[in-house]
Parts: sequence; C-alpha cells; structure tokens
Amino acid sequence: MKNKDDQNCPKTETCPLFQGKILESEKAKDIFIKFFCTAGESGRMECKRYLLAIDGYKPDISILPNDPRSVEELKKILSNN
Ligand code: SF4
Repeated sequence: MKNKDDQNCPKTETCPLFQGKILESEKAKDIFIKFFCTAGESGRMECKRYLLAIDGYKPDISILPNDPRSVEELKKILSNN
C-alpha cells in the first residue's frame, strides 16, 4: 500500500493553493486538493502548477491546477512577465 507521502505532492508546503491562499472557497480548495495534490503522481502530473514548477517556473496565483491553457502556453506567458 502506498503511504501518504507518496500520495502527496512534494510542493504542498510552499504551494499557495494547497496552503489556502488562492481560493476563498474552502470547498473548492478541498476538491482541488483531493483530485490533484493528494492523488499521487497521476494527480499532480495533471496539475498545471506542478508541471510548471518542476520545469523551474514560478506559477503566479492566477494559475489553477486545471488551467485550460497548455503548459507551453503558460511558460511563454510567465517568461514574458
Ligand atoms: S498538485 Fe499542484 S496545486 Fe497541489 S500542491 Fe502540487 S503544485 Fe500545488
């Protein structure tokens, strides 16, 4: 059985979404956390914030895990800021 640490995204301590600094709705935050942050590798590999972070980008707070833009598109936007 997988332990909790394997299931949790390694960014939880610093991620503003996980830390509750992006979404005002507790319910919405919990849903994102359930489907992305604590859903193992397959969950976080769907998270745009995580995919940007592992490539060295610092996603701003407007980017949610399910941002409709592609990772490449988001990288371009972040590079131009
Ligand atoms: S899965 Fe995404 S939203 Fe969740 S802690 Fe990791 S980077 Fe943040």
